[in-house]
Parts: sequence; C-alpha cells; structure tokens
Amino acid sequence: MRLVLLGPPGAGKGTQAARLAERYGIAPVSTGEMLRAEVAAGSEIGCQAQAVMQSGSLVPDEIMISMLGRRIAAPDCKRGFILDGFPRTVPQAEALDRLLASRGLALDAVVELAAVDAALIERISGRFICAACGASYHDRYKPTRVRGVCDLCGGSEFICRADDNPETVAARLAAYHRQTAPMLPYYREQGKLFDINGMETMEEVAAAIAARLDALAGETSRRFDVATLTHRGPRV
Ligand code: AMP
Repeated sequence: MRLVLLGPPGAGKGTQAARLAERYGIAPVSTGEMLRAEVAAGSEIGCQAQAVMQSGSLVPDEIMISMLGRRIAAPDCKRGFILDGFPRTVPQAEALDRLLASRGLALDAVVELAAVDAALIERISGRFICAACGASYHDRYKPTRVRGVCDLCGGSEFICRADDNPETVAARLAAYHRQTAPMLPYYREQGKLFDINGMETMEEVAAAIAARLDALAGETSRRFDVATLTHRGPRV
C-alpha cells in the first residue's frame, strides 16, 4: 500500500504514520525526520535546510523531490510506504505522481487529518522527544509511562524540536494553509482523498483511518481476485 498522510503541524501525523506502517507492514517515511537527520549530520542539505526549517518555511521543492525519490527507491519501500510530510506543495504532489507512474505505480490513498489551529498550537507546545531514541511524547496526550523515563529505550534525557516554539509554529501553520492545503483539491479530484477528523483522541483517529483503509485494502484485493479469475491467457 502506498499512502500519503496530510495535515497541519501537530495534527498527529507522526503517531498515526507509525501505527499505519506497523498495521500494513509498510515503511514510514518522514521528510521532516530526514531533514533533521541531515541537519544533525551537518551535511550540505542539512546546512541548506536548517535556517529554512527554523523560520517555519518550506525547503525548496527540488531538494525535497530528489531526496524523496531516493528514499522511496530503497528496498524497504518495495512493499509500500506511508509518507508523512511529503508532498507539501502542488509541484511536489505532481512530481510524486510522475515518479510513481514512471515505475508503473500509483498512490492508493491520501489521508487528511483535519484540525483547528488553536488546538494545534496547544498540542505542539506540549511535545517532547527522547534524546536517545527519538520517541515522541506529549505532556498531556502521550506522557511517558514512568515520569522522566522513555518507554522505548529507558533514556532519561528529553528535548523539544527546535521548530516547536510559538513563532515558528505560527509560520508553519501559515505555510500549511498557503502551500499545502491547496493540494487537497488535487487529490480530491483523483478520488483518493480520505478526510479524517484529527481532533478526536489518538485511538479514535487511528480507528477511523484503519476503517477506511481496511475497506480500501479489501476492495483492492477483491479486484485483484476477479482479475486473476478472469485472466485466462498465459502468465508472463
Ligand atoms: P515536519 O517534521 O514534517 O513538521 O517538518 C519540519 C520542517 O521540515 C518543515 O517545517 C519544513 O521546513 C521542512 N520540511 C519537511 N518536509 C518538507 C517538504 N516536503 N517540503 C518542504 N519542506 C519540508
């Protein structure tokens, strides 16, 4: 399954992407994570991206498209992937379609997590990450099971994302409305857009997405069965 998860910053894309990746056995691909790794490594891309990310604007399309193209050609994406944070502009969406079409592939669905700005600012301001393994948490919505200890690796040092401060969050939300939201009609016209209310609890959102995608997966495999049954010619 090849999926895109869209939504404003703080809508819960990272958490839902991880769950979906596990549920469908596909690779989670977060362009924000990839960029943060480039910044941490001090690479050329990281140096170009750092100031842009800190300002809350978008990294240029050319950089993102070639980075994403390389990533989804990796072996772990063969069975499918879920993109979190890409595409973010109409040119990125068009480039992704062209990239997949050149390999005889296409997206199966685009899930939009809809949420209101005021709630997003509150959600983002409580986020923190384990410094050792990168697991993400939230003061209110997803605290660690034991206070001050990472559930996954037992680490005890936590950090906040550099771009999770109020000024940058406001700029990221503005960039979402100006550059990313205009992609919604693009996918709606393709009949691939599933809109989900991202304001429910994490569990409710996960259940709503799974219900839509399981139905889609069922349809796809039924279509495949019919095609298999009616295909009488030699297999190549
Ligand atoms: P995220 O972790 O998805 O919120 O991304 C963090 C930041 O990385 C964004 O605010 C952008 O500056 C940059 N970024 C991530 N993905 C993209 C993309 N597809 N296009 C442009 N910039 C991106």
